[in-house]
Amino acid sequence: MNYPWNHQRRFNAYTNYCQQKFGERIQKLSINAGFSCPNRDGTVGTGGCIYCNNAAFNPSYCSPEKSIKQQINEGIEFHTVRYRRAGKYLAYFQAFSNTYAPLKILKQKYEEALQHPDVIGLVIGTRPDCIDDEKLDYLQELCSNYFISVEYGVESCFNKTLEKINRGHTFEQSVKAISDTSMRNIYTGIHLIFGLPGESAEDMLKEAAIVSKLPVSSIKFHQLQIIKDTPLEAMFHSNPEQFNIFKLHEYIDFIIHFCERLNPAIMIERFTAEVPPAFHVTGGFGLLRTDQILQKIEKRMEERDTWQGKFFQE
Ligand code: SF4
Repeated sequence: MNYPWNHQRRFNAYTNYCQQKFGERIQKLSINAGFSCPNRDGTVGTGGCIYCNNAAFNPSYCSPEKSIKQQINEGIEFHTVRYRRAGKYLAYFQAFSNTYAPLKILKQKYEEALQHPDVIGLVIGTRPDCIDDEKLDYLQELCSNYFISVEYGVESCFNKTLEKINRGHTFEQSVKAISDTSMRNIYTGIHLIFGLPGESAEDMLKEAAIVSKLPVSSIKFHQLQIIKDTPLEAMFHSNPEQFNIFKLHEYIDFIIHFCERLNPAIMIERFTAEVPPAFHVTGGFGLLRTDQILQKIEKRMEERDTWQGKFFQE
């Protein structure tokens, strides 16, 4: 089988794209640059998204008290000790909403990261309602010298769900942010969460056709994880029947069905999310790491002789 993505894996893997594009191993380094979030500070809302506990997603070396340069250096050391030294690094502005500040502040923070000799680009995680033409024009300028990617938390294509999880923005806002970003040839990533309250498997599968039509470069999938000390935890305890928390084998089958319907041009960066076990209310997928789950997904795709886009309809 000749897949359209020039390698033999059964999905359009972002890691393979990076290897081909950069010719060496690239590692992302998470940074907490001290940004806030309009869904927490009262601009859009105060309680935040019901599943959000940023501490659960933040590696230990990230702290806004440290300079960005220090976080990058500690991140390089952290990854070198655990894995192996990468060829180059991308500074991943991950915590909270990383375009939520005046352009002058954004420039200072991004350019501090780009001044590091081993950093070749930025990955900027943000909300679809925290971007505008001025910021995107600036990011477009950076693209002439660096790899620049903006990742939007889309989370769901259904406004009913977005309301339920208190996202504070609509799907239409996501579509606009994605279009405004990709039309400037900025690499555009999105996140989707599966298992949100009120969504059936059928609803979630419909999202494959919806996002397939968007000018998206890559996707990260998350299975819903119930994290301690969040409004979601309270909702789960008071009304567990409205949740359908995926068991691992169910998730593997679901995500393969989803990928079969997904546009093969969209790269997949991650199939699952993980938080440290201490944060879990329901145990997640046990102690299995994302790369172990990825192996299981690829093995299952092989057993079923299926691949991303097998049932994609233009
Ligand atoms: S937008 Fe992000 S940082 Fe803000 S509340 Fe939601 S998940 Fe948390």
